[in-house]
Order: sequence, then C-alpha cells, then structure tokens
Amino acid sequence: MKNHLKGIAASDGIAIAKVYLLTEPDLSFEKRKVVDSEGEIARLLESFETAKSEVRVIREKAATALGEEEAQVFDAHLMVLSDPEMLENIKSNIKDNQVNAEFSLSEVANMFIGLFESMEDNPYMQERAADIRDVMERVLGHLLGVKIPNPSTIDEEVIVVAKDLTPSDTAQLNRKFVKGFVTDIGGRTSHSAIMARSLEIPAIVGSKEITQSVKDGDIVILDGLDGDVYINPDEKTLAEYRQKAKEFSELQAEWHKMKNSETVTADGKHIELAANIGTPKDLEGVIANGAEGVGLYRTEFLYMDSADFPTEDEQFEAYKAVLEGMDGKPVVVRTMDIGGDKELPYLELPKEMNPFLGYRAIRICLAEPEMFRTQLRALLRSSVYGKLRIMFPMISNLNEFRQAKAMLDEEKANLLADGVEVADDIQVGIMIEIPAAAVLAHQFAKEVDFFSIGTNDLIQYTMAADRMNQQVSYLYQPYNPSILTLIKHVIDSSHAEGKWTGMCGEMAGDQTAVPLLVGLGLDEFSMSASSVLKTRSLMKRLDSKEMEALADKAINECTTVEEVIALVEEMKAKLD
Ligand code: PEP
Ligand code: MG
Repeated sequence: MKNHLKGIAASDGIAIAKVYLLTEPDLSFEKRKVVDSEGEIARLLESFETAKSEVRVIREKAATALGEEEAQVFDAHLMVLSDPEMLENIKSNIKDNQVNAEFSLSEVANMFIGLFESMEDNPYMQERAADIRDVMERVLGHLLGVKIPNPSTIDEEVIVVAKDLTPSDTAQLNRKFVKGFVTDIGGRTSHSAIMARSLEIPAIVGSKEITQSVKDGDIVILDGLDGDVYINPDEKTLAEYRQKAKEFSELQAEWHKMKNSETVTADGKHIELAANIGTPKDLEGVIANGAEGVGLYRTEFLYMDSADFPTEDEQFEAYKAVLEGMDGKPVVVRTMDIGGDKELPYLELPKEMNPFLGYRAIRICLAEPEMFRTQLRALLRSSVYGKLRIMFPMISNLNEFRQAKAMLDEEKANLLADGVEVADDIQVGIMIEIPAAAVLAHQFAKEVDFFSIGTNDLIQYTMAADRMNQQVSYLYQPYNPSILTLIKHVIDSSHAEGKWTGMCGEMAGDQTAVPLLVGLGLDEFSMSASSVLKTRSLMKRLDSKEMEALADKAINECTTVEEVIALVEEMKAKLD
C-alpha cells in the first residue's frame, strides 16, 4: 500500500490526525429463506434497539456540535424507529414469508418510501421518505455488521477522507474536530475546495486513490500547501511536518499584523481587498482577516441549507445580517447560482449530461420568475441596512442582463409604491464568467455598473476543461496569456465607461496571479477570507507601474503559461 499520495492543494495549512473515512457503506445482502422466524425477529428487534440508542447519542452530539436545529432531523429518525406499524409489517413479513430480517426490512421500508415519495407535492411526506431511507440504512448496517459513517458525530480530531464531498457535506463539518479533508476527486475550484478555504481548514482534492489507501484510524499528514498526503508516516517525516506547520503558523501571525492596515501598493495605489462568503456565519472570518468588503456572497447556500425555498423574510434577514455585519462596507450579493455542482433537491432539476453547461444560475432564475422576484424583493428591502451591490451570475448575453435588470426595477417600483424603503444607490453588475460576455465586455460596460470576473468558470469555459475533473485540472491555467487577454479586455472596457471591475474567482487570491492583476488595473479583489492577509502583504511590496509592464510582457511576449510563471517568479525573486 502506498504511503505517499499527491493531490491538488486546495486549502492552505498542515494537519496531522487520524483518518475518518466518509465512504458509502456496502449494504448489499441476499434474500434468504429462514425457518426460525422467532430468532430472526429477535435479531431485527436487537438491531432496532441498537439503532435507537445510537441515534439518541448522535442527536446529542449533533446538538452540541452543530446546534439544536440541525439535531432535530434525528428526532424524526427516532420517530420512525418507534413506529409500531412499520415494525409490525416487517415482523409479519419475516413470519409469513419465511424471509431474513434484511430482506423483510428493506421490502417494507421501500414500500413506505415509494408511497411517501409518490406524494409529489407534499414536501412533508418527501422528507419522511428520506427519514425512512436513513433509518433503514442504519438498521441494515447493524444487521450486517457494517459501520454507517456520520460526520455530525465526530467528536475527536480527525482528517475526513472521502471519494468526494458535496458542498452540503462540507457545510456539516465541524471545524473544531475536522482538521482537514482529502478527497479522491475534485479540482481547486470545486465548491467543497472553496468552502474548505472559507472554513480555513487544510484540504487536498483530486488525490485519485486516498479512499483506497487508508482505513479508519490511520494517521495521516495532510499538507494543503503542496498537496502531499503521508499515510502512517515515520517519526522523521512527522518531525519534518511539525516543523513546517510551525513555520506556517509563524507566517500567518506575521500576516495578521496587517489586519487593520489599508491595502496599498508600494507606490501608494489603493486596491479594494474583499472576501467571499457563503453564509452570514462566514462574516466572522471576513472580519477576523480584515477584509474591506464582501466581494461575493454566494446566496445559493441559503437555498441549499433549507428543506424548501427560503421565504422572502428569511432571505431578507440573511442579507440584512450581512449588510449590518459589514457596517457600511460594500457587500456584493450574487443572486442564486444553483446548478453545476450545486444541487437543490426540492427544485428537482433534470439530470443533465453537462450540468456546468446546462440549466444553471440566471437561466433558472429567468425561467422561474416568482422564485427570482422573491429574492430580488428581499435584496431590495435589505438595501437600507448597508452598502448593497447586486450581481447576476452566468450572464452570456445582454438580453439576459436586461431581463434580470427589468425585473429588479419592477420589484423596486412595486416596493416603493407600497411605501417600503429601498436605497437609491444600489449598484447592479454582472459576473463575467462566460467567454461570450468577456469578449463583448465593451458593450456590457455601457449598461452595467460593474463587472466581477468569475475565473473559476471563465477558465473552465475558455479552456474547455471541467473544473470538477482532476484529469484535466492541468488546464486550469489562470496565467495563460489567453485568459489574461480576456481579463485585460474586461478591465479596460469597464474603465473606458467609468465603471469598475472586480474578481471573485479563486484567481484573485492566487499569489502568482496577484502581481499580474495589479498590473492589469483590477479594482477589487475578492477571495477566501484566509487569503486576504497574505495578499495584502504581497500587494504592499508591488509597484503598480512595474506590474503594468509585467502584465504587458505576459500578454504580449509570453506564449505559454510556463513562461508567464517564470516571468512572475523572476520578478518576485527581486522583491525578497
Ligand atoms: C466563479 O465562477 O469564478 C465564481 C466565483 O463563481 P462560482 O465559483 O460560485 O461558480
Ligand atoms: Mg461561477
């Protein structure tokens, strides 16, 4: 078995801890004829009882680790486990048909699941179906002697190892105990990687074979700076990494000294340095890292965290909390961007061959105007609590922007007519993440207030390289002259119309890209909160005029990404 793996460094930092395997358990079984029905029923009852005490413990742990609301799902599981009707059905099935407990349990549970799931417009019943499925898996696990992993029960320091983590799996990880994670698949800009950076936990994605290489309880070193994983390392390697971790935290302490300073280049040019958030809770990191604003609030997580569409009031409260929390500093709220790797079970989107090229973001919003208008109203109402900027994602042509903007204007007029206060200085912009919009930035610039470049998507669409696929992750090339040329056109076009351009894709916090972006005249940089201070510290050492020349050279003289990297490295070496 390998004891060293290389993956994609997705979130800075070093962690050393035990493995917690978060993989799908194998719950396969055979249908068997059983003569001793009483014995089989006893086995069933015992598994139900064990499952019940286990769920009670999980419930308590989840309440402490994640809060009372998150824990309530387990009350529903306990109700299923105590439901006499379901249990009687399973018992009679064992007796009448002389079948094993596993078969009887799954047959009866699936019958109930099918029944509840068929009540399509009853979300309550849909949830009950999900509860029964969870409970059935837990009891089956006990009957088969297979462990069912559950991240909300983690109560010691671990490194989570999984094939992949969905954004909602990642949201459930408790930072206190989860010291990092390593996955088989994923790229640097997959949303679980982005969330690791906002949780400020080290992570490696796309390691290809970590789940095959470790077992529960193995000790691993996770080096999120360079993408190395060591499994059951020897004392020498451990000592080396303890030292590297110490040096990294000293460097972080150095960066933290810049928390309250302004972001200025060596020649005194001010640059707006903002942070990206997914929920109002992330403001803690934004403030702790001294960001000057929120450059991207990914509102889809509000939808993903809830069992049904969040109401206008629920959304209003979330937006208001962020605006108030930022205390007058600018907050760019992006309207919902569901699709791609961000699913919304209750929206029931059709399975697509190419979800990133499919029904996503503004395309859904324009097709579901009621849902979109609810979000727009909540945003407009919140605007009086701070400095709101609204941004539409995945805009590919001006018609989409015009339609979205018209809906916003209509909702604003309706609210004003009803006597509701709305700020009159809300800037409305778009994300530039589709090459078609980047190419026509000079036309868009006449109609929008600002651009924010979403390089995570812009690069995947320009290079035709799926951001989730580690096989093609080498084509995620932020410094490719083609990408730099597109970015330059976007920035120049906005400036020609007296507008500004920000960047909220991961490239904004990339330390090789920062000098080039400063040189291209990017006005606002928005990144994971954990990258803010190191970027401020780098910018302070850069001369904006020299960076202009550097960017010019990168675009006009370099032909490959390697040449651009060499150019930046050469410049950086002179800084030190
Ligand atoms: C982007 O595409 O760069 C971006 C910031 O949006 P998301 O990562 O949410 O797609
Ligand atoms: Mg995007």
